[in-house]
Amino acid sequence: MSAPSPALHLLEHVFGYRAFRGEQAAIVDHVAAGGDALVLMPTGGGKSLCYQVPALLREGCGVVVSPLIALMQDQVDALKELGVAAAFLNSTLDADEAREVERAFVAGELKLLYVAPERLVTPRFQNLLQRAHVGLFAIDEAHCVSAWGHDFRPEYLALSVLADEFPGVPRIALTATADHATRQEMITRLRLEQARQFVSSFDRPNLRYTIVEKKSAREQLLTFIRREHEGDSGIVYCLSRKKVEDTAAWLRDKEIKALPYHAGMDAQTRARNQQTFIRDEGVVMVATIAFGMGIDKPDVRFVAHLDLPKSIENYYQETGRGGRDGLPADAWMAYGLNDVMLLTEMIEGGASGEEQKRVERNKLSAMLGLCEATGCRRVAILGYFGEETHACGNCDNCLNPPKLIDRSEAAQKALSCVFRTGNRFGVGHLVDVLQGKLSPKVKEFCHDRVSTFGIGKDIDEPTWRAVYRQLLARGALRLNPEGHGGLEMTDSARVFLRGDEPLYLRARTEKFHYRGERDSG
Ligand code: ADP
Ligand code: ZN
Repeated sequence: MSAPSPALHLLEHVFGYRAFRGEQAAIVDHVAAGGDALVLMPTGGGKSLCYQVPALLREGCGVVVSPLIALMQDQVDALKELGVAAAFLNSTLDADEAREVERAFVAGELKLLYVAPERLVTPRFQNLLQRAHVGLFAIDEAHCVSAWGHDFRPEYLALSVLADEFPGVPRIALTATADHATRQEMITRLRLEQARQFVSSFDRPNLRYTIVEKKSAREQLLTFIRREHEGDSGIVYCLSRKKVEDTAAWLRDKEIKALPYHAGMDAQTRARNQQTFIRDEGVVMVATIAFGMGIDKPDVRFVAHLDLPKSIENYYQETGRGGRDGLPADAWMAYGLNDVMLLTEMIEGGASGEEQKRVERNKLSAMLGLCEATGCRRVAILGYFGEETHACGNCDNCLNPPKLIDRSEAAQKALSCVFRTGNRFGVGHLVDVLQGKLSPKVKEFCHDRVSTFGIGKDIDEPTWRAVYRQLLARGALRLNPEGHGGLEMTDSARVFLRGDEPLYLRARTEKFHYRGERDSG
């Protein structure tokens, strides 16, 4: 038997692991040999080793650019524990501490140095880089360079200087989120045209995806936790800080060990709640998306969404925090049309430019498509990331294939109603018109005189709402940019109106109860 490769030897003796996972071995070989790399690997896939091992194999110090200060600290602590000479430079160090790290770096005493991007591009640090011996550059969370992405960091743009200033030093960029457009942007903006791409599968087979229609979301969540996850650790994502607080309090009332977490809380309480979540068993963290980046808790048994994430990337990233130990975990979400309204208003009212808003609208619409999908969720999610797969047998639609009903005719009526009332009313009103209800608003606009008034009495309100959701998801309707949840037809509506494209809805299996949440469907 031949001796193990130096990489494997390091893996075993420094990190204590027996084998590389997935693409790790190939990436390590490539970078250790001086090649540039672009690594797409899902969260929890093991990206850190992809630059840590080559940094130890190469001469000089590996410089790691990371935007996450908390993560830097953790990684450096862990590396020191393993006996690796590692340090970080960020705003948490005072001047003396920073100077000591700089000295050690230039003196060649470090094997890994973590730096925040804003610091890396300062003249002072660029000067240090010239004097030190750099073995490689690792650019973590590389999608931050993308203006399309959800966490754009302008400082990342300046990282392109590394290509010019250090042509002989290999660069490895890593990310867990990149659709095709983002990937292209990373390549051009980070000057990685020559880099070899390593794309891992994004499949998380142990995650069971379930997306339910929102009725009374909190009650549904409670039922889900009690039925499937009594005493388990989990994360519940909500959109607003207030909802985080309310939901955590409400769950505690129901004797679930729930804690809140959002950026508006004082730093101490936040840190304490995070520690409790990580250390104790069976804590349910109710949080905004401020929570989770860099949290490495392997036994999170469920991730629940009470509000719709604004893109499939976000959904994937957030649900990806479940089941990192490889054991079964649930990704559960309750969603309703109101979520779409709210997010659309946030997009339209946001500060982004028109081009950016268009991107955001498309991402939201893909997310909505996933919610309304009647086929395998995994196929839909992975398809979004450009990966083909077969029906998984481990999502709600695979486990309980929805019985489908042809609602093509209802779709035509629903679209006509949008058209006849002038492309500007919300679902509640449209359904009133279809069902022939003489509401004050119907009277005010004389909509009892349009031809679609009362033509939909045979179909109940929840079904009409589902028809509208599907039409939105399929792009036949969009939210009117004027706001107020008004719907307007798009060019794609024509195929439905002509009957060229059928519309199938899942058959309702349970009776619908609105608990004072009339508009939540
Ligand atoms: P990522 O940055 O991709 O989210 P990490 O690098 O933090 O992932 O790794 C996730 C977890 O997997 C860590 O706990 C890490 O120690 C573990 N891990 C990574 N590679 C291996 C491996 N080859 N063998 C065993 N465990 C690994
Ligand atoms: Zn499936």
